[in-house]
Amino acid sequence: MRIANLSGRLILVTADGTGAVDVEAASSGRFGSNPQAVYDRWDEFRSWAADADLSTATPFAVEELGPPTPAPRQVLAIGLNYSEHAAESGFTVPHAPTVMFTKWVSCLTGPVTEVALPEGGHTDWEVELVAVIGKTARDVSEADAWDHVAGLTVGQDLSERITQSAGPSPQFSLGKSLPGFGPTGPWLVTPDEVADRDDLELGCSINGEQMQKGRTRDLIFSVPAMISRLSQKLPLLPGDVLFTGTPAGVGVGREPQRFLAPGDELVSYVTGIGELRQRFVATPTT
Ligand code: ZN
Repeated sequence: MRIANLSGRLILVTADGTGAVDVEAASSGRFGSNPQAVYDRWDEFRSWAADADLSTATPFAVEELGPPTPAPRQVLAIGLNYSEHAAESGFTVPHAPTVMFTKWVSCLTGPVTEVALPEGGHTDWEVELVAVIGKTARDVSEADAWDHVAGLTVGQDLSERITQSAGPSPQFSLGKSLPGFGPTGPWLVTPDEVADRDDLELGCSINGEQMQKGRTRDLIFSVPAMISRLSQKLPLLPGDVLFTGTPAGVGVGREPQRFLAPGDELVSYVTGIGELRQRFVATPTT
């Protein structure tokens, strides 16, 4: 099953990604139009959606899609979760998921956007698999963790590196939460729809040149490991968003370093899920 946020309304998406069925209309009001609210009734929604009629689907434009989770209560993101990326960043591989930060909710967008580059910044790319929670997770085992996932989507953890490492006690969240710095989508795909939920290819390219390519089997803390370990510290709530880390190939780890420039187009993908497309522009001068 695929769901998305079409101009603020929850839709079911056909398997080929071209057709939309409005959930509120198709369910005669049983489920509302709010894309975020559906995660609080995930099991009930999945049962209904399993028999939903998609033959009435109508075409839509991906440019009209918003984030599959527009207003999560928590966004949890992990750093240094692929060993080659930890090495290119100059760190040793962590033995516990300690490099945790958030992307504040205002930075979340849909899959196709224009992003203003902060003046004087070094804006970098990080393609990531994003998992969305479908059931409250508290002290869950790794074996049970996938049962708490509603679905998967593509994310870009755009990061302004100067802000990210500024100050005497650097923390990541501000430099990763600037406007438009959290594209997600294009839709949420339930884990049963992908070939292997524990081994998905992901990557990104700039102006057609491949920058990152990895596989989620190389995650240091897999999706279930991350959920299990985090759930021992705090509850993960329905609709919460987990950015699971980025593989090697970011700009700050290159020789010479490279950052996004006005006019660049960044395309990010997870095979079996979909792609994001960001075009970068200079911050308009006032
Ligand atoms: Zn990241």
